[in-house]
Amino acid sequence: MALNNGQVQEIQRILSERQLEAHRRYLEKREEIFRKLPELEELEEKVRAFSLSVAGEMQQGNREGLLRLKEEIGKLHKEKKALLEGAGYKIQDLEEEEHFCPLCQDTGYVDGKKCQCFLKLQGELLYRQSRMGAVLERENFSKFQLERFDNIEKLGQCGNKTLREYIKEIRDYLTNYCEEYPKNNRSILFTGSTGTGKTYFLHSIAKALLDRGVSVLYFTATGLFEYFSKRMREEDTEDYIEEVDVILIDDLGTEFSNSFTTSRFFALLNQRILDRKTMLISTNLNFKELREMYSDRVVSRFMSDYEIIPLYGKDQRL
Ligand SMILES: [Zn+2]
Repeated sequence: MALNNGQVQEIQRILSERQLEAHRRYLEKREEIFRKLPELEELEEKVRAFSLSVAGEMQQGNREGLLRLKEEIGKLHKEKKALLEGAGYKIQDLEEEEHFCPLCQDTGYVDGKKCQCFLKLQGELLYRQSRMGAVLERENFSKFQLERFDNIEKLGQCGNKTLREYIKEIRDYLTNYCEEYPKNNRSILFTGSTGTGKTYFLHSIAKALLDRGVSVLYFTATGLFEYFSKRMREEDTEDYIEEVDVILIDDLGTEFSNSFTTSRFFALLNQRILDRKTMLISTNLNFKELREMYSDRVVSRFMSDYEIIPLYGKDQRL
């Protein structure tokens, strides 16, 4: 999924640093070993000489000579090994670079596929850029506590289900949404009063998507509008926000709004729809309030292009 050029370059940069570092360590180790064991130099010299002779004998097809030489080289190797081990080294210390990732030798690819270490770097990068931090360790689908929701009272607005049954359906739907993303990459608007689980769901989706290598960018509504103003002032050319797969906006409606921010918000909303890219938004506002705060056209975009998931119930954080 979409890593932009900058992100790929960042990962490549880390990988080449690792390769250089492995090579530097290898040279250092060799130097140290030869300093401590000067007699190795002579052994190595002999091995080199014998190896050259091997090439000569091979050309001449001298089988006996070849066997004799190979035997000599074998002996020298044993001597070398004993010498090294006597000083607490392994033969590999002298002959092999020790890679950060032995699977791909720090190239990032195994058989043309991204190596585990590449995926790990990708994940770390995406997490960092998502601006979400440690909260995702606490709030995610695997830590979701269904039993906190009431399972006795059947609620009309939940289709005569209990809150727990209703929330479970949503949770299962969203888990599946993340697993199959971007097969269905529809934007979602979560509505409901404070503490009904909107933010928790946003965080859970973010983590599930990030873990699958989807790029995610998180804003509180206030943060988003600060970002817009900053972009205006600095003419920031880095348009990561336009490339990112999924933008999350938490608590829409709590920001200090004015005609600039509301028109900027509409532009973003519209652009994401045109680009067929996902936004996940939570808000305490109902449609009437959304209409008043933003505009009819914002609400009509929500109606036509968003999946609306209303959440109900008492403040679950209490
Ligand atoms: Zn690797």
